[in-house]
Amino acid sequence: MTSLDDLRLKCLSIDGRGYPNYKQIAGSYAAKGFTLFVDHVQGDPFASPSRLRVIVDALSANLPDWSYATPTQRIASADFMNRLLSAYFFKQSQHRGSGKSGMLDILRPGQEVLARTSVQVYADGRVEARFRAGLPAQGRRILGRQAAALVSEDIPQAVQQTLSSASFTPGALEEHVRCVEDAQMLRQQLNARGLIAFIADGAILPRASGVDERPLNAKNAKPFKGPEYLRVELDSQHSGPIKGLGIPAGVTLIVGGGYHGKSTLLRAIERGVYDHIPGDGREMVVSIEDAVKVRAEDGRAICGVDISNFINNLPNAQKTDAFVSENASGSTSQAAAIVEALEVGAKCILLDEDTSATNFMIRDARMQALVKSQDEPITPFIDRTRQLFDAHGVSTILVVGGAGDYFDVADEVIAMREYEPHVVSTQVKSIAEAMPSKRQVESPEWQALGARMPDAQSIDARKGRKDVSIKAYAKERVLFGRQEVDLSALEQLVEIGQARAIAQALLWGKGQAFAGQTSLALALRQIHERLSTEGLDVMERRPG
Ligand code: ADP
Ligand code: MG
Repeated sequence: MTSLDDLRLKCLSIDGRGYPNYKQIAGSYAAKGFTLFVDHVQGDPFASPSRLRVIVDALSANLPDWSYATPTQRIASADFMNRLLSAYFFKQSQHRGSGKSGMLDILRPGQEVLARTSVQVYADGRVEARFRAGLPAQGRRILGRQAAALVSEDIPQAVQQTLSSASFTPGALEEHVRCVEDAQMLRQQLNARGLIAFIADGAILPRASGVDERPLNAKNAKPFKGPEYLRVELDSQHSGPIKGLGIPAGVTLIVGGGYHGKSTLLRAIERGVYDHIPGDGREMVVSIEDAVKVRAEDGRAICGVDISNFINNLPNAQKTDAFVSENASGSTSQAAAIVEALEVGAKCILLDEDTSATNFMIRDARMQALVKSQDEPITPFIDRTRQLFDAHGVSTILVVGGAGDYFDVADEVIAMREYEPHVVSTQVKSIAEAMPSKRQVESPEWQALGARMPDAQSIDARKGRKDVSIKAYAKERVLFGRQEVDLSALEQLVEIGQARAIAQALLWGKGQAFAGQTSLALALRQIHERLSTEGLDVMERRPG
């Protein structure tokens, strides 16, 4: 194999030439302790930067055994190094010419610890990092000396500073790995304990701002303190027994005055499907993996979803057992989102009144008296939530500030008062008895949902002359072929990489799971299964 020094010389030799000459540097180069791969060279200095990758030898990464023995440890360690490397690039990458010349960049993780392809730790202790580099140019002329410095100084330094245990702050990697292992162990206990979520005492739930997911500063944030009732103690792998609020399976309301922390609690539960980094504040807030946040999203498209359990007898005899709309209303969009979650096996639906369609959630006694149920297509969620749990084992956690009729269907009610939870279930029961809501329960029998079969032919990522064009602009915006997909209502997506992975999975599934007349639920399960056993990279491997 050629050495990094050969690459350096090659860069020097093309100094001053036209940019396309950079194509020659594609290839792999052995360096001290690692191998550098130049996988894709950008066509011009203003195109998206070149794709590079390093694989660090196990000996030179020198990771401690406990940091890469299990898949969880490998994900946590990779996440740790990804953070170091992205911070390093952010601080150190040097401007070496025009445009993005000299810039080094890698995916920047948020508050969650996720499996990613940007940095991976392998079972044999090697570490791989994939990043982008702006190959230096002045105008369209290659800056060979700058390129040589980039590959032979900047990159080796970055590797040495961030992908080798010798450079870590003592104890930091261990804290990171243990934090993730603790969270996973907490999450694993939920089902057996009949819980759907757990919020540890001392957790910091509020965030710095609506656009900053880091914790609110310690001075202003009130740490979470679970109420006496619903208090549970779970075991953790490294931190002993952990006490906190355990939300049982069933129908749970989160009530309280405006601005008392209801939505903040729900959002922490939503994110409890993920593990968090040390210092996030929600390290020990976990929920079952199948908890899905649902909201109204008027204007969204719906494709063949059976929403007839919620919406039936539309005025123009429109069928709702395979509902299609290019522009759904608030209520139909929310019905579809719930059914889509159920279709793929969600075991807990998370709802916030703030982002729900009122007419989907509730119809009170006065409205029932005015509009007879045969003239009203909507069976409100209040009349389905008990059925969902009693007959199908699907729990609901619902934030309500205004709709007291929900008292009738709740198992537990948690009142937030100045950011502090109190269990008021007994009080709520006596209020419900003393002040009956007088509304008529409208729950016709729940009709089993049919299985949708994805049509592989409809998955089309072509654009212009390209067979495949997938671009993720943000975690809420992906261009798939010529279709722009808006993911902003999926509030549990946390990183742009997830949006890209979903788009890729869709394309990968076209020739795989979606090809064989399989139900959507089964196809997604197959995809999920293969991704977790074979790794995310399996989607990149094209046949042939
Ligand atoms: P609600 O949904 O009850 O109206 P929110 O959850 O939106 O209230 O919270 C209102 C404000 O209070 C938000 O700015 C949030 O960040 C802040 N907040 C929530 N919980 C806490 C807490 N434990 N400590 C300090 N501030 C908090
Ligand atoms: Mg709110």
